[in-house]
Amino acid sequence: MSSLFDLSGRVALVTGGNGGIGRGIALGLAQAGADIVVAARNETKNAAVVEELRALGRRGVAVPCDVLERADLEAAVRAAGEEFGRLDILVNNAGVAGGGRPEEISMETWSRVLHTNLTAMFEACQVAYPMFKAAGRGKVINIGSEYSLFGSPRVLPYSASKGGVVQLTKSLATAWAREGIQVNAIVPGWITTEMTQGVKTNESMYDQIIARTPAGRFGEPEDLAGAGVFLASAASDFVTGVVLPVDGGYAAS
Ligand code: NDP
Repeated sequence: MSSLFDLSGRVALVTGGNGGIGRGIALGLAQAGADIVVAARNETKNAAVVEELRALGRRGVAVPCDVLERADLEAAVRAAGEEFGRLDILVNNAGVAGGGRPEEISMETWSRVLHTNLTAMFEACQVAYPMFKAAGRGKVINIGSEYSLFGSPRVLPYSASKGGVVQLTKSLATAWAREGIQVNAIVPGWITTEMTQGVKTNESMYDQIIARTPAGRFGEPEDLAGAGVFLASAASDFVTGVVLPVDGGYAAS
């Protein structure tokens, strides 16, 4: 059974893999055997995660990557080919929060959030596709949000971008299923990361979230590892177009 989840010899590219949820998934994939391309902007943080990967006995390579730049995405995919000779798994995790009341949101905010969270996700899939097609298989894991499922008066561009992640995932899944490429999304609940620091320290918001979460706690980045390994491995070869909440029951309550 364990071989179904074995990622030995596989290579994963994780955008935003240098912190938070991306790091949690990258380390989880590495524990299952994968080598990792860490693609994010902060080179110090990139290098630190590569060290952690090496400590796990895996190979890691850091690529400075701003997902807003298509050339950077191309460089990250190229690095997988040059360093490891293959790319099996793409985790589209890089994301930014952003919002405000709808009537006050600037178009700059709208464009930056939509570009980072949705457009760049599509571009990364386009850029990775030739390697997946040549291999006759590939795994794409897109990171959505509870706001993929629910609206919010406070984070409208974020919500719109994350809603788009779901339809992007389903559409790519149907387009590429016959080529052996599975495209799925993970919808994390409230997870302890830099992005949620402000929420976690805001007592009334924190209490509301805990009350709404059946598991009664925030998730930690490592809580995403199991779903990541499942969707990256042979265990999910007949699973595509799925949106999987990893949220302590938040979406169900
Ligand atoms: P963090 O802020 O901790 O991490 C964000 C990551 O994205 C960093 O690694 C950052 O690296 C990277 N990133 C941001 N912008 C860019 C960019 N333009 N180019 C490349 N990398 C970028 O957030 P989380 O770990 O919490 O978030 C990760 C994903 O999970 C996001 O898509 C987020 O929307 C989603 N999510 C988070 C939830 C939570 O509760 N934390 C809940 C639901 C979804 P760098 O700055 O070095 O580029």
